[in-house]
Amino acid sequence: MAAAAPENVFTVDLEEWFHLCDGGAALSPDRWDRLPSRAEATTGFLLDLLNSLGIRATWFVVGWLAERYPRLIESVHAAGHEIGSHGYTHQRAYDLGPDGFRQDVRASVAALRAAGAPRVRTFRAPEWSVNERSLWALPILVEEGFEIDASMAPVRIVGDVRYPRIPHIRPTPSGTLVEVPPFVTDRFRQVMPIGWGWALRMSSPSRVLRTIEAANRAGVPAVLTVHPWELDVDPPRVRLSPRLHFAHYFRLSGFRVRLREILAGASFGSISALTVPSLPR
Ligand SMILES: [Zn+2]
Repeated sequence: MAAAAPENVFTVDLEEWFHLCDGGAALSPDRWDRLPSRAEATTGFLLDLLNSLGIRATWFVVGWLAERYPRLIESVHAAGHEIGSHGYTHQRAYDLGPDGFRQDVRASVAALRAAGAPRVRTFRAPEWSVNERSLWALPILVEEGFEIDASMAPVRIVGDVRYPRIPHIRPTPSGTLVEVPPFVTDRFRQVMPIGWGWALRMSSPSRVLRTIEAANRAGVPAVLTVHPWELDVDPPRVRLSPRLHFAHYFRLSGFRVRLREILAGASFGSISALTVPSLPR
């Protein structure tokens, strides 16, 4: 008998600790080649963790990284994970503009394919940057061969609370795309981003799992996301704006252990393994 399809999705945004949008002069792209790489060590930890739990995830990979560490991408692919694009230079869609976005996406796919990735059909924009400022990105993704996007967050600031919370089809002038939103919940009369970032690191595993169970009972899959740099036991420290400092350094301590507990407590798979009628096979 075939194993039951996973109810939830685990995704990794595979990027370096210095791949920030607006990281300031110290982390500007022209300095990236001189900064210490941490991606190999932290990705190794994550691959071992997922392997020990039998989880196959979707990895959204920064093209810049794939170009420099093709064997890292090979090892992710060889472990049975799905490989998607996280852009080439890790810039927000609305900062790139339509033409820049298309060029960046193409460069990322070329880098991923050169690193041995099979057809790349899933995409996630850096900082959830497909929103009302950049809806033109969706038809461009269709034209560039993508079938699934996971860039539209149903939260304030980076997205819009009116965006659907479940995977759904979005018509675009160039064809349809499946949109797979990240996991949010309602708390204190606010929509809270419980499936990624500071909120995932802050929450106790039992709270995260209770929230996932409630969502699953309502037919909603939880889409979780981590970055390898969140699992770094000794992350390089740089001065950042208060917002970025919080997003990058808040409660990293103990996250390896908490993440294992969360991943062991529910069923997770890649985006493409999700049993949603609207997902293309
Ligand atoms: Zn990113």
